[in-house]
Amino acid sequence: MSQVQQLYQLQQVDTEIREKKQRLGEVLRAQKKTQELLAARKRLETAVADLQTWQSKRQDLDLELQSLKNKAKSAERRLYSGNVKNPKELTDLQHAIESMGRQRAALEDELLEAMIMIEDAETEQTAADESLQTITAAWEKEQTNLKQEQNQLALRLHTLTGQRGQIAARIPDRLLAEYDSLSKKMRGVAVAKLQQGICQGCRLNVSEHTAKSVQEGRMTYCNSCGRILAG
Ligand SMILES: [Zn+2]
Repeated sequence: MSQVQQLYQLQQVDTEIREKKQRLGEVLRAQKKTQELLAARKRLETAVADLQTWQSKRQDLDLELQSLKNKAKSAERRLYSGNVKNPKELTDLQHAIESMGRQRAALEDELLEAMIMIEDAETEQTAADESLQTITAAWEKEQTNLKQEQNQLALRLHTLTGQRGQIAARIPDRLLAEYDSLSKKMRGVAVAKLQQGICQGCRLNVSEHTAKSVQEGRMTYCNSCGRILAG
């Protein structure tokens, strides 16, 4: 195998290593929690918190109403007991009972509102829970696929690295150094195929002289981009 062919082989392995590494990076990034999943979790958390707020509000109102009812009952008992003789005290007692009646009506309105809010919050919690389950199932399936791809990529990269070592061992150091420095300058592509007189690195025509030199298997450089040309 000519040196140019060896360099081209090295180039092919390096190109695949670069592509696989790039994909591996994408696969690893995609395995982080997705925005959609985070939003669905947040929605459920909010729904649960809302429901708890309204349930506790309802409990408070229930207690308040119960205590008001007891107070009103005992005031009424006192009013009708016949023990209160003082007219001023009787009037005050009557006013207090009326006032408690108004408070009771207001509390009952608030209680009704809390019960409506609880129903809404329960509906929202069920919807949020179902949505999270659907999104989680899809996410888990995707994660399984990504994990599988990650393993395949890692395995392939391991093989390629081994191949690269074997190919590079057969190439003289001086040439390898030239390849590496050219590769850095040419964004990872030091060796380009020459196809129908066109350099596949820069897509420009090369001279007839250059094309002939490539055909003869000699180390030849593209007139335009300076890459090593492989036939
Ligand atoms: Zn070129």
